[in-house]
This record gives sequence, C-alpha cells and structure tokens, in this order.
Amino acid sequence: MVGKFLDALFGCWHSRYSFPITVRPGSRRSRAAAVTGTYVVCLDCGKEFAYDWKEMKVVEAGQNTSAGVRSLETKEAS
Ligand SMILES: [Zn+2]
Repeated sequence: MVGKFLDALFGCWHSRYSFPITVRPGSRRSRAAAVTGTYVVCLDCGKEFAYDWKEMKVVEAGQNTSAGVRSLETKEAS
C-alpha cells in the first residue's frame, strides 16, 4: 500500500511493462506507438511507452507529455 501511495505522490516508476504491442504503420492508435511502431503499457499506471525492438528496451519520450500528469505539487521550478 505504501508503494502505491508513493506512486501516486511521486509518480509511477514504470517498473513493470506489458508485452510489447506492435501496431501497423498508419494506424495511429497510440502516440507512443507512433515513435517506433511498438509500444508497451505500464502495468501499474497504464501509461504507454514507445518500445524499440532492436534495442530491446523502452524508449523514453523526450518531450513533456501533459497527458496523465496530475495536478499534484511538484518541485518543478520553471
Ligand atoms: Zn507506470
């Protein structure tokens, strides 16, 4: 329970992912999938991440995505 609480407080660590899901090119089903064509879903918070089959790892989206960001207080200065 404490872990869940911390997740809600500080954000999900995204430590558990679903099996990579590959989408067909052209079907813009997910923004994460648009990066590599494959994406995984965090099993804890449900957020989607692009997945690189060649690198066999999750690709962190560089840009700030406001989606899923809750109106929690953060230490963000700017
Ligand atoms: Zn997560």
